[in-house]
Amino acid sequence: MEMAGTQSKQDQKIEHFDVLIVGAGISGIDAAYHLQKDCPNKSFVILENQESFGGTWLTHKYPGIRSDSDLYTFGYKWKPWDGAPIATADRILDYMKEAIEENDIERHIRFNSNVKSASWSSEEKKWTLYVEDKSSGALKAFTCNFLWMCQGYYRHSEGYTPEFPGMESFDGEIVHPQTWPEDMVTEGKKIVVIGSGATAATLIPALVGKCDHITMLQRSPTYFFPAPNKNDLADELRSLDVKPEWIHEITRLKVLKEQELTAQRSFQDPESLKKDLLNAAREILGPDFDIEKHFTPSYRPWRQRLAFIPNGDLFVALREGKASVVTDHIETFTEKGILTKSGEELEADIIVTATGFNLSVMGDIDFSIDGGPLDFADRWAHRGIMFSGIPNMAWVFGYLRTSWTMRANLVSDFVCRLLHHMDEKDVQMVTPELRAEDMDMPKLDFVDEENFNAGYLMRNMHLMPKQGDKQPWVFSQDYYKEKDEIPAADLEDGTLVYK
Ligand SMILES: Cc1cc2nc3c(=O)[nH]c(=O)nc-3n(C[C@H](O)[C@H](O)[C@H](O)COP(=O)(O)OP(=O)(O)OC[C@H]3O[C@@H](n4cnc5c(N)ncnc54)[C@H](O)[C@@H]3O)c2cc1C
Repeated sequence: MEMAGTQSKQDQKIEHFDVLIVGAGISGIDAAYHLQKDCPNKSFVILENQESFGGTWLTHKYPGIRSDSDLYTFGYKWKPWDGAPIATADRILDYMKEAIEENDIERHIRFNSNVKSASWSSEEKKWTLYVEDKSSGALKAFTCNFLWMCQGYYRHSEGYTPEFPGMESFDGEIVHPQTWPEDMVTEGKKIVVIGSGATAATLIPALVGKCDHITMLQRSPTYFFPAPNKNDLADELRSLDVKPEWIHEITRLKVLKEQELTAQRSFQDPESLKKDLLNAAREILGPDFDIEKHFTPSYRPWRQRLAFIPNGDLFVALREGKASVVTDHIETFTEKGILTKSGEELEADIIVTATGFNLSVMGDIDFSIDGGPLDFADRWAHRGIMFSGIPNMAWVFGYLRTSWTMRANLVSDFVCRLLHHMDEKDVQMVTPELRAEDMDMPKLDFVDEENFNAGYLMRNMHLMPKQGDKQPWVFSQDYYKEKDEIPAADLEDGTLVYK
């Protein structure tokens, strides 16, 4: 990869590290922490495209931006969380800043470093990465023995906006939450938000009172889980002056147990779980609200992420008439707003397309192996962490239902264990390979649609690696299985080939 106006590859000083981490989001910082603690003899660097750490929590700036899962489990295992379970992006960034400072991680991060290409050489047993230094425009080269991809799963620069008919005729402003303008004026404006996922559920209560009126326009309903934004057990333990580390661990265990029971119910008794969720909605929205139409999804609960709404704020805004919900399909955008299929015209000054992400499988990096191009869609995922035929590389794809970070932590432990194992064997190369008995596996989607069917994944599943039907080629997306399976994974089961 060459870039105009930069030095040629040959002239460059190449920096080498044992491990190179791509991304300084919640996963990349977890990886760095584990490397430092568990593999102190390994040199490493984190390359981050943005000007600071935080990933998702740095790039998203729309009003109200907050987590939709609790911070006891979204936070790190190794750093206690002491706030309310659902936290704003600012609060998460503060927590990450402390985590970075307390562990002296910042000196390992190169910000404004956009990884453009990564190529593996089996002869040299290392990766070479070409990286754009965004502050100088120069292209820099790095080599590493092991590449740890913590680049997330979606494109940060732009969100996903479907092509709606008549968009060009709309007189007002169309904005995607992922690229929310800092100088956006909402006061006195009529706003229509297209979508009903966690983003819409965050934006709407945040904008109530800061605009004339706000409408959530959804094609189909979503489940929401209204509950107070507090954890009674954590609060009680705190009042007893229990050590923060203990409070964190105990609260995590409790949250995980509750989520496990909810997930089990969603499979074993979806109707009763559905009833409970709808009753909770009814309690806030009141007897006259058309819950059947607006908040009764056709899918079973937890087939998509169940969005927690702290203190039921979205429902409160709807009950008080400061916001409204329309469940209908879009016929066309008009000059004045949106005309729905059933003939209603929703007037708007601003239309917010809370319509999701653009999946980016590996940070839009141009990958190659021994000179040949690499398409991840052709590869089998090994425990959802490594890939068949791709040496010395791991990635973090977290949980979709349980907090993402719970898996980042399992992956970190696995990678550090693997690096130790390689040192003990005195080898430099590890490649996942199918055994004879794996050859006839069916090529299954990386995430099973029956299990979890978020739109951004379904639209792009063809770009993702495949999973098989026997271990270690299965990616269950099930924390409760993986918490035992991954730490016990046999590194000599014949699927990891060492050289
Ligand atoms: C609005 C929003 C709310 C969410 N809420 C939750 C929640 O409550 N709970 C939950 O579990 N999950 C949530 N998620 C999912 C969330 O993205 C993940 O949980 C988590 O933040 C991902 O962390 P990460 O570090 O793996 O990736 P990211 O946060 O995406 O960070 C990846 C980093 O890698 C960098 N990068 C990417 N490509 C390159 C490249 N080529 N070169 C250099 N750097 C690169 C990016 O700049 C970024 O900083 C939410 C997502 C969004 C968008």
